[in-house]
Amino acid sequence: ERLISSESIGEEETAEYSLRPQSLSQYIGQTKVKENLSIFIEAAKMRKEPLDHVLLYGPPGLGKTTLSAIIANEMGVNLRTTSGPAIERPGDLAAILTALEPGDVLFIDEIHRLHRSVEEVLYPAMEDFCLDIVIGKGETARSVRLDLPPFTLVGATTRAGALSAPLRDRFGVMSRLEYYNEHELAFIVKRASEILNVEMEDSASVELAKRSRGTPRIANRLLKRVRDFAQVQGDGIITHILADKALKMLQVDSRGLDHIDHKLLLAIIEKFRGGPVGLDTIAATIGEERHTIEDVYEPYLLQIGFIQRTPRGRIVTGEVYSYFQLEVPE
Ligand code: ADP
Repeated sequence: ERLISSESIGEEETAEYSLRPQSLSQYIGQTKVKENLSIFIEAAKMRKEPLDHVLLYGPPGLGKTTLSAIIANEMGVNLRTTSGPAIERPGDLAAILTALEPGDVLFIDEIHRLHRSVEEVLYPAMEDFCLDIVIGKGETARSVRLDLPPFTLVGATTRAGALSAPLRDRFGVMSRLEYYNEHELAFIVKRASEILNVEMEDSASVELAKRSRGTPRIANRLLKRVRDFAQVQGDGIITHILADKALKMLQVDSRGLDHIDHKLLLAIIEKFRGGPVGLDTIAATIGEERHTIEDVYEPYLLQIGFIQRTPRGRIVTGEVYSYFQLEVPE
């Protein structure tokens, strides 16, 4: 099990507790996004209309799924959840859409992975709340228009750029989620520790925040692993010293990088003289999937200025050399 991965592995929710914030006021950070959404939600409620379709984009684990549930909560409607790859045929989408109640929020995760044929059904559904279906075959085939209840589509993607233009154009609201700062993450960790009912030193929550790659999902994950250490090796209290020790054993370094980040950075330095090198070559060299690197590892390394994109490929920056205590080549 990887600490840094794109999937939520069902560990955020159990019968006893939920780490997911339920309302906009509990949702930490992302101030701009929250401010805008709260105005749009308020206005839609005043007009007694569903909220305009919303596209949320940004790296995994930053709170897109959580925000979609909050939107449904704040609007006082049901949430239906699915994902791009799960909708295989146009008929699957039609079944989901016709089962919606007026005003419902339909959340489609990984919306950039929708099949083309499914996307085409989605256009009139988003625009006019209707479905065009073809009945019969060959010469007797005819197209029938079905009305749908008005609904709000909330799409989530790690890559807005991978969305087709016609789909992108049909979203009235587009919000980009940013990495969280240390202060926000420390707050998230603290809140989660209270929900999990575990005692924690403030400096320990700051330490976890520093090593969470700006990502709440990773912060919560680290908290749970560190809690295990505190239970087995300590007296259940997460002290700063214990957190440090546990994080070392989990192989999470002081910047939150793990062994795959190290492998990636060192491969560029040792095998490609610091770059530039193409993403596919890096992927093949370290034996990881290209899309895992692109979606999960690279965005954070770009964010902290450890790698840069150039037209000829990726390069590591001088900072990486000093980070690994290596000499910067000429
Ligand atoms: P995404 O859909 O972007 O991959 P999620 O919405 O599944 O991310 O968020 C992962 C976890 O991180 C959630 O279960 C929640 O506990 C936590 N989380 C995300 N955003 C926030 C936030 N703004 N405040 C507090 N916790 C958050």
